[in-house]
Amino acid sequence: MPESATKTSKPVSAGQTKTGRASACPGLFRIVPALDGGICRIKLPLGRLTSRQARAIADIAGRSSAGAIEATNRANLQIRGIRPGTEPEVIAALLAADLGAANAGADDVRNVMVSPLAGNDPAQILDASDLAQRVLQRLQAEPRYHALSPKFGIQIDGGEAMAMLDHPNDIWLSAVDHETFAFGFAGCPPLKDRDRTAGFIAAALAEDFVFACLDFFLSLNGTRNSAGQEISRFRHVLINITAEEIVARIALPVRRDITSADWHRTSPIGFAHLGSRPQSDDRFVAIGALPPLGRLDPATLRKLADLADKATLGEIRFTPWQSIVLPNVAASDSQSVLNLLDSLGFITQADQPLAAMITCAGSAGCGSAHADTKADAISLAHALRALDTAVFGIHLSGCSKSCAAPRATQATLVGTSPGHYDVFWREDTTTNKFGALIGADQSIEQAGRLLARRDSKQR
Ligand code: SF4
Repeated sequence: MPESATKTSKPVSAGQTKTGRASACPGLFRIVPALDGGICRIKLPLGRLTSRQARAIADIAGRSSAGAIEATNRANLQIRGIRPGTEPEVIAALLAADLGAANAGADDVRNVMVSPLAGNDPAQILDASDLAQRVLQRLQAEPRYHALSPKFGIQIDGGEAMAMLDHPNDIWLSAVDHETFAFGFAGCPPLKDRDRTAGFIAAALAEDFVFACLDFFLSLNGTRNSAGQEISRFRHVLINITAEEIVARIALPVRRDITSADWHRTSPIGFAHLGSRPQSDDRFVAIGALPPLGRLDPATLRKLADLADKATLGEIRFTPWQSIVLPNVAASDSQSVLNLLDSLGFITQADQPLAAMITCAGSAGCGSAHADTKADAISLAHALRALDTAVFGIHLSGCSKSCAAPRATQATLVGTSPGHYDVFWREDTTTNKFGALIGADQSIEQAGRLLARRDSKQR
């Protein structure tokens, strides 16, 4: 599920950020009503959850909601369909399971992203999780940072092969070597053909650098840029101030030289989040699996917790692909854990149509949706399987707002009416953010055939 709000009425709980701006983003203390009930978002430090906490979420979701638990595209969880009047019980149960922030005002700012395999990925240049933990703790401990937008994100990339580079973050750092991070604003660590580096900072200064950037940002937070936008994200700052000027105002020895524009990160491995992945210690593997369309019911989450207890000392990591990773599984148990996840309904292989399909809440949960994206995605997966096609990267969006995908996927279906979509194919996004319109107002069957034809041309 995307980390944005669906169209709603007013939040039930504290509905404002620390700057006094109304926020429609769900949080642990801000349960936001949607068509299918309240949404409570649980921010997971570095995407990590214990089996005990997973059971607590399953229990309260079973008692107080329609029972939909969603993995989000920021490696968090949310409970949907919370029944009116049960919000205090939900919040109390989550706090009792240590799922809240170190202090209540800090819940919104716990947005520090790392690879789900940070610390264990054999391709990593360094372990990003230590720095990420320190940043997370300081964000929570120092009240001035609680004024940041609930969407303000920081990515710390250790160079892992399992890495999400499609979600822009306000500040990103990416390991160049053991001593150096590249950094940038309002984007992602750069690949060869996209994004760009603003400079380099010594790894020993990385924490101070992040907070110097935040202090600079906070000096502008809530003011307006020359385009009239209220500044709540770094992209609003870049309208008037270049990355070079920001760097010049930060009193740290930032290295900026000719290689800044040229540096790019090694490409991650596609679909590394599914199936069995090697770890740095070859006695262990990480097992990745996707609940279809990112949704779990309480019974499945409980069974996953039981499996984590047996296979991983009780650790579950959530990923920005709305999936899970069980780290530190004995290599000899790899196949049996995969089989168990398959039997629980998880997707563990990339060649299944639903493995690369995302949707927003659709008409079951959002008042702006023109179509039931979740149900239609299942139908589309069946249609594609019948056509022996698996297009990698399909996004079904209930309207053109595109909450579920920060960047265009290969194919985007935008709802026009129940069961019908405009179909876009990403070739050139200069005229439309989704790409070229290849079919207007198509039924799911028609869309499936269109995508199959495009897929066969690509092969
Ligand atoms: S993309 Fe549109 S329909 Fe889907 S959740 Fe966002 S606002 Fe609602």
